[in-house]
Amino acid sequence: MTAVRTTCPYCGVGCGVLVTPDGKGGARIEGDPDHPANFGRLCSKGTALGETLRLAGRILTPRIGGQVATWDAALDLVADRFLAAIRDHGPDSVALYLSGQMLTEDYYVANKLIKGYIGTANVDTNSRLCMASSVAGHSRAFGTDTVPGTYEDLDQADLVVLVGSNLAWCHPVLFQRLMAAKAARGTRIVVVDPRRTTTCDIADLHLALAPGSDAALFNAALVALADRGAVDDAYIAQHLSGFEDALAAARASDGSMTGLAPDDLADFLDWYVTTERVVTIYSQGINQSESGTDKVNAILNCHLATGRIGRPGMGPFSVTGQPNAMGGREVGGLANMLACHLDIENPDHRAAVQGFWDSPTMPEKPGLKAVEMFQAVAQGRIRALWIIHTNPAASMPDADAVARAIEGCDFVVVSDVTQTDTTALADVIMPATAWGEKSGTVTNSDRTISRQRPFLPTPGHARDDWRMIADVAGRMGWGDAFGWDSPAQIFAEYAQLSRLAGDLGRDFDISGLAGADYDALPPTRWPVSARRQGGRFFGAGGFFTPDARARMLPIAPRLPVAVTGRRYPFRLNTGRVRDQWHTMTRTALAPRLNQHTAEPFLEIHPRDAADLGLAPACLARVISPRGQAILRIAITDRVQCGQVFAPMHWTGETAPTGRVDALVAAVTDPVSGQPESKASVVDIAPLNPA
Ligand code: SF4
Repeated sequence: MTAVRTTCPYCGVGCGVLVTPDGKGGARIEGDPDHPANFGRLCSKGTALGETLRLAGRILTPRIGGQVATWDAALDLVADRFLAAIRDHGPDSVALYLSGQMLTEDYYVANKLIKGYIGTANVDTNSRLCMASSVAGHSRAFGTDTVPGTYEDLDQADLVVLVGSNLAWCHPVLFQRLMAAKAARGTRIVVVDPRRTTTCDIADLHLALAPGSDAALFNAALVALADRGAVDDAYIAQHLSGFEDALAAARASDGSMTGLAPDDLADFLDWYVTTERVVTIYSQGINQSESGTDKVNAILNCHLATGRIGRPGMGPFSVTGQPNAMGGREVGGLANMLACHLDIENPDHRAAVQGFWDSPTMPEKPGLKAVEMFQAVAQGRIRALWIIHTNPAASMPDADAVARAIEGCDFVVVSDVTQTDTTALADVIMPATAWGEKSGTVTNSDRTISRQRPFLPTPGHARDDWRMIADVAGRMGWGDAFGWDSPAQIFAEYAQLSRLAGDLGRDFDISGLAGADYDALPPTRWPVSARRQGGRFFGAGGFFTPDARARMLPIAPRLPVAVTGRRYPFRLNTGRVRDQWHTMTRTALAPRLNQHTAEPFLEIHPRDAADLGLAPACLARVISPRGQAILRIAITDRVQCGQVFAPMHWTGETAPTGRVDALVAAVTDPVSGQPESKASVVDIAPLNPA
């Protein structure tokens, strides 16, 4: 059979995949040699996609109160309950909670409904847990959420600094590209991470800094760049504002906060100052922090001051966790954004979007961000909640409290593919189509829009997300505005809307794709318009602020507020393992992926294990101020004394002894609203002390 060209549904690398169906529900999986993200490469998760195409455990019919229902009954009930909540308590009493797993077209329809027709900005996404601090940092510095560089920069850099990024496990194909670049041109690699991850295996230098001290490190780098004549005075004069204030704040910050050995710090600063082609990659170790936005801006400051941005082989680079975290950002899937990188608090932007949609309403203020949203649910301020393709009862910080809030909410509808901790709490369950069955687009970390194409029949009564949302919108009285017949029509409308964003001086403009052949659409990096095509941003300035200058910000580094002490002596870091994805609803279907790590664990340093009397592979109770979990002990010097690490994937039936996110407090960054998932405080007790 003919191979179908589609895109991997896991991480934000966005690899192209060639799928050859076998006609019996399975498929052969190969990397797409023509896709610019991976050029034929795939990682362990990507190559095992063919083993995950089973229907076991799928939700295939709508359910109301646990009973099988018709689509009409389910859709009528959802529309009625949302309308009743809006009538009795106002539009801010309803909310949508979305996911970076959704396709751009689905995201677009959800945002059009809630912002343009219901009239609230209470729409947020699990991408808030993944990259909101990068969005906020970009916006503060550049005026828009613009990723300046491209994946080619990794191939062309002389120094790559990975900060809070276990690229080897979390973005494996980019790691393969980096290894190839190192072999070809001797790229120097520095890893900045409290934990010695697998990524450190190819590092020339590993900086195991104190948890949360990244901003202090990049403030030190800014001072070194300035003192050693590496800043670009002409670029600063023409394209930046705030350099002196940022430098003064950097000089005032306490470099000893990092706890790094002076020689290691000196080596890093020497390389950072003397290398022109520098890429600084950062990920969840930066973003998932209560000071994540400041950390992002501390990194951006260094690249701006040197003009090392938007030119081949240099720039700051935020790598996203989910397959369509970027698409969700572009379509306005966060509570504080409008579509196409337009600002919800800008009256001109609101008028443009409302006029384009011909919609009756448009919120003037940002809505509730993810953590705030579930707190509002717990307080009874949200009366009707629609959760799409995500499992907040397991994956939100303070997960036990979130599960109780969902359980207590007046009305909860969940659209998903399989049963999860969250579907178990829903009043209505809507069966959604999965990867391989649905059609749409996703955007990866370097702004490349790729098609996800179907290659399997729709099973049971499953339905596409965009169609479910449009069906509900029609029952709420807005059928004319939601009358598309296909994702292609939705994409064309979205591309036309983006022309207005370009007219308003924003970065996101894909109006050049409005008339494109959707079925044949090749991977395409935005922008795509008559004004501008693909490529890098900011090499010659041109920022999206009113004066076209980027803002350097004064950063005063802050360590995590929760401090370790007698009651909670350990700092808990959470993250991914190589072969699982999120809460394992797909990856756990592939036996070979389960072989890598069979069960949840807690990494602890040998000295701490000895002090606590913990033997290898014994069980221990991990206790935080928010919850408890029982985990198997893995003794390793990959973590430092006083620090422990646990993966986040196991939930529900796979984690009968507790979910790791139940240990994490709902503490957020004040700018981005992103939770601190890397620096909880815990105690550890042997389960069966000798
Ligand atoms: Fe999929 Fe990411 Fe692996 Fe590429 S690197 S195959 S996108 S999981």
